Amino acid sequence: SRRHRIVIVGGGTAGITVAAQLCRKLDGADVAIIEPSEQHYYQPLWTLVGAGVVKKESTVRREQGLIPAKATWIKDRVTELRPADDAVVLSDGSAVGYDYLIVCPGLVCNWDQVDGLTEALGHGGVVSNYAYEQCEKTWDEVQAFTGGNAVFTMPPPPIKCAGAPQKIMYLADDHWRKTGARGKATVSYYAGTPGIFSVKAFAKTLNEVLARKEIQTHFKHKLVAVQAGEKTAVFENLDTGEHTSVPYDFLHVTPPQGAPEFLKASPLSDPAGWCAVDKHTLRSPDFPNVFSLGDASSLPTSKTGAAVRKESGVLVHNLMAVISGRPESTFKSYDGYASCPLTTGYGKLVLAEFNYDLEPTPSFPFDTTKERWSMYQLKRYGLPALYWNAMMKGRV
Ligand code: FAD
Repeated sequence: SRRHRIVIVGGGTAGITVAAQLCRKLDGADVAIIEPSEQHYYQPLWTLVGAGVVKKESTVRREQGLIPAKATWIKDRVTELRPADDAVVLSDGSAVGYDYLIVCPGLVCNWDQVDGLTEALGHGGVVSNYAYEQCEKTWDEVQAFTGGNAVFTMPPPPIKCAGAPQKIMYLADDHWRKTGARGKATVSYYAGTPGIFSVKAFAKTLNEVLARKEIQTHFKHKLVAVQAGEKTAVFENLDTGEHTSVPYDFLHVTPPQGAPEFLKASPLSDPAGWCAVDKHTLRSPDFPNVFSLGDASSLPTSKTGAAVRKESGVLVHNLMAVISGRPESTFKSYDGYASCPLTTGYGKLVLAEFNYDLEPTPSFPFDTTKERWSMYQLKRYGLPALYWNAMMKGRV
């Protein structure tokens, strides 16, 4: 049967970044990437697709062009992980063996966990930036909105890019102020979290933004149903269990998210279903030849591409140490670095960078808790260029 020295499950942000670094650093590395999709998405720009700044096509590239020349692409889906046998199983039932495994299949959006959402999505004012095929419809509906109730939701975490549910709200509000719709509208934010943002320094700025924009917030609320016929969204109060029906004219939904089923069902997962790894070394506690990073991992940081960039360097260093027989004392340690570029309007952005201790860890020598034009340009132009030209090529 088939066997490779290093097998990577998932060719998304994490899979390609790690594969590219390994192919640069290891001579004759036998790296295989298992990835079913012919497309690769730069998801952070979906926020700006929903706001009409870029076209969705600008966020996608062919997977073929990103797989490192020295790596093997297995164009299939993993259906089972068998770490005790050093093997994974593909959708056709065949097995692929490995010496070392890197688990990074991302997370799944569980649209079906909200009653009526799957049917409602994409029509009648119900939109979401959380899928490639949907994000452009957000912009159509933002433009079509002339007043009434605009509702934005965020499910209980963890989700990918915890800032994205509110970024689109600030951009839409900005647009509606230009068209005059905002004067005839109520904008509300319903979130499963206890507050607007987990890092205090940035929460302070965001609370000022919410006040300035007169946005009504409802924390510890979870969307449980969308009744498209009546145009009402039903929320559960997470403290009391009480249900409230909220009429909407525009509804931007961030879906509940979780680990993929094949990972949940495997011996590699933690109780929540994520791939269990040490939060500093990124190595599985039970299977020393298994590592994980990205959205599918148990790393208790904010699930972002920015976190993947830092995680990948640590993972590659530690995996190479294991391959060369060096002890854990030579390992690098991941500090939980993540970043969330929060657009607070067109041309305005708060760059939140922080670590496991929820301390700000700014990369720039100025006060990044302030809304800045320069940081908006970084998101619009700088970060996509960094992604395609450096990160995807294994330079981080
Ligand atoms: P992904 O990039 O999602 O890749 C997972 C890959 O695994 C996919 O290619 C998939 O096809 C593949 N896969 C799935 N199942 C299987 C299987 N069974 N077998 C094999 N392969 C499989 N991050 C930021 O840093 N900044 C931002 O501003 C930002 N904004 C965002 C806005 C939105 C609207 C969204 C949706 C995300 C945003 N993110 C942002 C988050 C960022 O995109 C993710 O954190 C990042 O892509 C995670 O990388 P990953 O490789 O773990 O997962």
